[in-house]
Amino acid sequence: MRAAVLVEQGQPLAVVDRDDPVPGDDDVLIRVDACAVCRTDLHLRDHEIEAHGLPRVLGHQVVGHVVARGAGAEAPAVGDRVGVPWLAWTDGECRYCRTARENLCPNARFTGRDVDGGFAELVRADGRFCLPLPASGDAVELAPLLCGGLIGYRALRLAGPEVGRLGLYGFGSAAHLVCQVAVHEGIDVYAFVRRGDGPAAELARSLGAVWAGPSDGPPPVPLDAAIIFASAGELVTQALRAVAPGGTVVCAGIHMTDIPSFPYDDLYGERAVRSVANLTREDGRELLALAGLYRITSHITTYPLEQAERALADLRAGAFVGSAVLQVAT
Ligand SMILES: [Zn+2]
Ligand SMILES: [Zn+2]
Repeated sequence: MRAAVLVEQGQPLAVVDRDDPVPGDDDVLIRVDACAVCRTDLHLRDHEIEAHGLPRVLGHQVVGHVVARGAGAEAPAVGDRVGVPWLAWTDGECRYCRTARENLCPNARFTGRDVDGGFAELVRADGRFCLPLPASGDAVELAPLLCGGLIGYRALRLAGPEVGRLGLYGFGSAAHLVCQVAVHEGIDVYAFVRRGDGPAAELARSLGAVWAGPSDGPPPVPLDAAIIFASAGELVTQALRAVAPGGTVVCAGIHMTDIPSFPYDDLYGERAVRSVANLTREDGRELLALAGLYRITSHITTYPLEQAERALADLRAGAFVGSAVLQVAT
C-alpha cells in the first residue's frame, strides 16, 4: 500500500510503499476513502508533541470500508463503512474506563501516534473502537467530523449547560463544525479569527455566527463561554476577560504554548478554565447522530495522499478555510 509516513519528527512526511497491515484478533482492516488533517497531526509532524514508535502513519479522521477482519472481531462487518477516530484503544479496566471517562484512560492508545493511522490506503483498527458511519454522504465531507467535529462537540458540552453566547477562538476545522451545532441549538456564536483573516470571518458569518472579529480584541458583549482551538496560550487570558462571571473557558487543543500570568480578578467571579482531552466512543455516536440531524456540512480543501506534507504546510500557514482532507481513494 501507499502511505505517508512520519519517519522523523520535524522532517517532512515520506510517501512510501509499505506492506499491507494484517488485522490482529480484534482488528478490522479498512480501505481508506478519505482522511482529514488535524492540527494534532501537524503538532506530531513539527515535534510539538511526541510520536511513539516511529516510523508512524499519521491521520486519525479516517472514513473507509471494512475489507477484512480478525478472528475475534465481532463488528463491524466486511463491507461496512466506518470511521477511525483518535481513540484507538483503552484498557477498559481503570477507574476512568469504569466511570464513562475512557478519554482519560492512562493506558489509552491513539491513532496516528501510538498505532498507525489513515494517511494510507489501508489502516488496521480495533473493531470495538471504530465508529459506524452512514452509507451515504461524501467520505471527504464526513472525515473532518471524526476529530474536529468530535472534539468541538465535547468542548461545547464541557462549556456548560447555560450558554447563550459562545466565543470560538481559532476558526478552523473544529470551530466551523461546532459553530453549526451551536447555532442549531440556539446559541449566539462569536467567532474570533486572526486579525486580517477575511475568509475565516466570512465563513463564520456564512455558518450563522452573529459576530466575527479579531482574536486580539474584545467581543461586543460579554460571553457565557469560550472554546479555544488555537494553540496560542495568550488566548486563555483574553478569553477569560471576554467571559462574564460564571463563564467557562475550554481549551480544546492537545498542545498550547505557555499561558501568561494574569490578575486573579480575571478568574474571580466563578469563571473556570478547563481543557478537553480526547474523546469517548459515546461522544462519537452522539456527534455523528447530531451531524445527520443538523445537516452539518464541512468546508473542505482536498489533497491527494501524495500531498499529505503539502496539506500540513497549508494548515501551518493558514492557507485554507475549514478542513483539509486527504482524498485517498480516487
Ligand atoms: Zn485530531
Ligand atoms: Zn482505562
